[in-house]
Amino acid sequence: MESFDVIVCGSGPAGLAASLAAASHGASTLVLEQDSMIGRKLCATGNGRCNFSNTVHPLKFMAEFGRNGRFMVDALRAAPREFFLDLLLQEGIRPKVEDEIHYFPMNGRASDVRDAFLRAARRAGAETRPSVSVRRVLMENGSAAGVETVGGEILHAPHVILACGGTAAPALGGSASGLELAKKLGHSIREPVAALAPVHVDDPWFSGLAGVTVPDAELGVAVGTRHVFMRGSLLFTHTGFSGPAALNLSGTVNRVLSGGEPAHIFLRVVPDKKEQDLFAYLVDEREKVPDHLLKNSLARIMPRSLASLVCERLFGEDFHSKRLTNAGAHELAHLLDRMPFTVSAQASMDEAMAMDGGVLLKEVDPRTMESRLAKGVHFAGEILDLTGPTGGFNIQFALSSGRLAGLAASGAL
Ligand SMILES: Cc1cc2nc3c(=O)[nH]c(=O)nc-3n(C[C@H](O)[C@H](O)[C@H](O)COP(=O)(O)OP(=O)(O)OC[C@H]3O[C@@H](n4cnc5c(N)ncnc54)[C@H](O)[C@@H]3O)c2cc1C
Repeated sequence: MESFDVIVCGSGPAGLAASLAAASHGASTLVLEQDSMIGRKLCATGNGRCNFSNTVHPLKFMAEFGRNGRFMVDALRAAPREFFLDLLLQEGIRPKVEDEIHYFPMNGRASDVRDAFLRAARRAGAETRPSVSVRRVLMENGSAAGVETVGGEILHAPHVILACGGTAAPALGGSASGLELAKKLGHSIREPVAALAPVHVDDPWFSGLAGVTVPDAELGVAVGTRHVFMRGSLLFTHTGFSGPAALNLSGTVNRVLSGGEPAHIFLRVVPDKKEQDLFAYLVDEREKVPDHLLKNSLARIMPRSLASLVCERLFGEDFHSKRLTNAGAHELAHLLDRMPFTVSAQASMDEAMAMDGGVLLKEVDPRTMESRLAKGVHFAGEILDLTGPTGGFNIQFALSSGRLAGLAASGAL
């Protein structure tokens, strides 16, 4: 019978960071990965370039995960981004910052980030076994005792870290396997829905705009009596929307749909201008340049192709500003402030970059990432019910929570 101090299930960023932390603190550490490839999803992140962190201040970083974001305060303290930046540098990976926010490896190769963590973990003494799937966490007298693999092998360890990720992107290894392991231990799961996915709408009259980007837009969805908005760049697609504003709203949209409710979303094309500002702008243009085409006035505040399409839909082709009545200006301003759409269907997990949902946070101690229900079992990364927006948030959280779990499991805290 093989015995270890710590068994880590999963070799994504959470599992790699956990195994490195545990092994560096003297724990005999084994990583089990059901896939034939270590860190397969990590290697595909950021379009193969891996946006592994960002420059966002920790308070804002946590806030971006929603009202439960403070769950990670200890993880970010134990393992801030600087820790991982140093580690990558030591492994010969120079980070670079894009848009003053997003960290990527300088050479643009996500697989190098995976290799750096894997190398460091192995050098510290961690063993990795690909193509081994964990079927069950073994418990003895209320404490973790090891795992049973799908092949029936029993491996002993008093600490088991579940860093199994979520259900998003099954082609890259996403599965419910970790959630099933947690359920068997008595944990409750917030049902997963696709997050960081495109938003598909009914009757996309703008399908001719597929490929057009609005650099700064706001997309909102009604959730009961409140509205949730996401702001950022927005991409028109043949079936709806993509780009950060849509991707970051999709978890909320899919959650509404999963509750059996229709999801009504609305688009603000010029989020810096409120409806009355837009009205004032249109009236001003009518007075200043009455003989200009209205679409040209609109093209000064939004992409030209969208401006043309909106004008055409409301007023027909080649509509001059002088023909715009006050009622017409009100109608147009209202539309630009709140263009309504109905979402046609939930996005699938195949399209998603993350899962919204997972192991309930109240059942996990944020100081150690240890289960409150099963002693010696720890959680890290996306398996937890905490999802951030695009832009390096999710990998950084996986790394930080993984390291904290590894430190706690090895007794280093
Ligand atoms: C296409 C794509 C691009 C992305 N780009 C970015 C980006 O640029 N920046 C960013 O921050 N986030 C990005 N993400 C999200 C990010 O990849 C995840 O949030 C992150 O990988 C989660 O890390 P994790 O270690 O928790 O889980 P994962 O990386 O999913 O790793 C979990 C591992 O556990 C294994 N596993 C599961 N169950 C078992 C079991 N029973 N036994 C053994 N092994 C098991 C899985 O095979 C998997 O390898 C992207 C996601 C996708 C799909």
